[in-house]
Amino acid sequence: MNRLSAQEVDHLKQRLRTEHGQLRREVAAELARSSQGRYVELAGQVHDRGDEAVADLLEDLEIAALDRHVHRVRLIETALGAIDTGRYGLCRACGVQIGSARLEADPAVERCIDCQTAAEQGRHAPTL
Ligand SMILES: [Zn+2]
Repeated sequence: MNRLSAQEVDHLKQRLRTEHGQLRREVAAELARSSQGRYVELAGQVHDRGDEAVADLLEDLEIAALDRHVHRVRLIETALGAIDTGRYGLCRACGVQIGSARLEADPAVERCIDCQTAAEQGRHAPTL
């Protein structure tokens, strides 16, 4: 796979920066919402255990969403760091250059398609 052109890297860097800014705003908004005590508010409106469990579940879902966003922010920061060190677009697992179409679909992708597939299946790709 050919290395990315400077132009391609620049374009992907812009996209990473834009998404990074959006995510940081979302994370800040989520943190603000949870610190407003939404759980307490929900729990206060209900009396039986079943409804308390629903409030727990809602809180868990919010934390899961926040977790995903924070994870994504880290991925993007890793990608931006790699651009600075000239290692952008290399598979984290095997080191090959990830194709530009794959990076275009997700500029923060960490692995080539083979390593991603292997990781999702929880094992290494079979050797032929
Ligand atoms: Zn790989």
